[in-house]
Amino acid sequence: MQRGKNSRLMWAVELEEQDFQAIARAAGESHHLKAIPLEDLPERFDNEEEPYLIWISDKAYAQMPDAKENFLANWEGPQRALVVGAGSHGPDFEETANKGYLTTVLSPLSEEKLREVMLRADEINHLYSDIFRMTREVLLERELLARKTDQLLFLNQMLSRASQSLDPGTILNRAKEDMNLLFPVSALQAVFWSPSATESIEAELLVSPNTDGSVRQEWMDHLLENAVRLAAAPVKNFRLDLLPSSGSNTPLQGPEAEETVVMPLRTGYEYFGCLALCSPKGTRLAKDQVQTMRAAINHLALALKNALLYTQAKTQAEYDGLTKIHNRASFDERLTEEVKRHQRHGHDFSLLMLDLDHFKRINDDYGHQAGDAVLRGIGMVLADTLRISDFTARYGGEEFVVLLPQTSEDKAWLLAERLRKRIAKKRFDYLGKPIQVTVSIGVASISPDCLSKVDTLIKDADEALYRAKSKGRNMVCLSNKFESQTAMQ
Ligand code: GH3
Ligand code: MG
Ligand code: MG
Repeated sequence: MQRGKNSRLMWAVELEEQDFQAIARAAGESHHLKAIPLEDLPERFDNEEEPYLIWISDKAYAQMPDAKENFLANWEGPQRALVVGAGSHGPDFEETANKGYLTTVLSPLSEEKLREVMLRADEINHLYSDIFRMTREVLLERELLARKTDQLLFLNQMLSRASQSLDPGTILNRAKEDMNLLFPVSALQAVFWSPSATESIEAELLVSPNTDGSVRQEWMDHLLENAVRLAAAPVKNFRLDLLPSSGSNTPLQGPEAEETVVMPLRTGYEYFGCLALCSPKGTRLAKDQVQTMRAAINHLALALKNALLYTQAKTQAEYDGLTKIHNRASFDERLTEEVKRHQRHGHDFSLLMLDLDHFKRINDDYGHQAGDAVLRGIGMVLADTLRISDFTARYGGEEFVVLLPQTSEDKAWLLAERLRKRIAKKRFDYLGKPIQVTVSIGVASISPDCLSKVDTLIKDADEALYRAKSKGRNMVCLSNKFESQTAMQ
């Protein structure tokens, strides 16, 4: 019989002719019943079309080799129905049920009975395919869950580590390490900015230490371009810091040679920086990884903002806003430390106290702004003239102090003289006007064997300064009896 296009396939294994015909009739046009001799019944899977129901005669059942029986029992698709010939008893019902047969029908076969068998086979097949689909879904979910678990671990590790530090460089280095759990990251660099007074921004760049001259410049340009774009304002000035070294010193290539993603950082609606995340060329992130990264970046932004605010607050607490050198509070703290160090190790150290001469006149003659410009200029002269180990601070108004660790009185005097001369020679520029100013300096020192003088160091320097003023200004005076003074030049 020719098979219809959409007909459903059933097999008939060694059925009596009248049984075969009865089934074919009951099944109707929509089915194709294919007669299969017992020896053609498969023992293993090949690519032949799968029937949904196999009718097996009790004769075939009785002669069925174990290999074929086992194969049929393990074949998930087709259901099996046993057809017991007229006059025969057939096998025990329990035995066929144990072998996985759907049912047993006795000849002569009624149409109603046959239809019912086909319907049940259909229902069970649907049930199996539902179970199969659900099992696949569960396995898929399990795989997704495992991936999500990895991402959660990454998020958890990154978030807890990000908020363990208040140093932006350390936070970035740790975030880079954690991101490596998800995909390869060759560098994580950043630019932060804050608005300046003139509708422009002041930027701070954090660039990888594994960059040399031209590559470093390329990254700086790249970061600054993105800062200008996101802040929608020009850069007034910027500061470059290198990230702390993180162990690896594989040279980083330029932005073009790496797979670079720029990720804006914001709290609320305001951008305050962006990250440049570099991976080796060809790295691609899956959709869910991008989502995880996004969540991570939002939290990282918060940790970085906190760190920046902390650094800013610390700078404000320690530095003088006008002259950008240390303020009085941090000087007091440093002096206490230095005194303790002296008590422990007995090193000598010196203190310079500077006061600008007739500074009031500068304010009176040129205005307060000009006075401010001169104070800023003095801050720069001090920073340029002194060593890093020396500690310079604005003590108040137009008074400055310099702490000189491990410096004896005569060396301190030489240094004070150098400062005095430098300031006297300098022309401080205010709107094109050159302004001159001189300074009086008092020097006090503690030598290794003079423990008793520690507390009186400031008083001594102040007294020496007072003497320099009263003797005519533009002068350095020592606190000790051996006074040295320099005439005005
Ligand atoms: P002397 O040589 O005796 O030290 O005279 P002087 O004029 O420097 O001393 P005085 O103590 O009479 O005046 C200090 C002046 O410094 C007065 C004050 O207005 C000015 N001053 C203090 N702080 C600032 C500041 O932050 N900016 C400006 N422009 N002026 C300041
Ligand atoms: Mg003064
Ligand atoms: Mg003064």
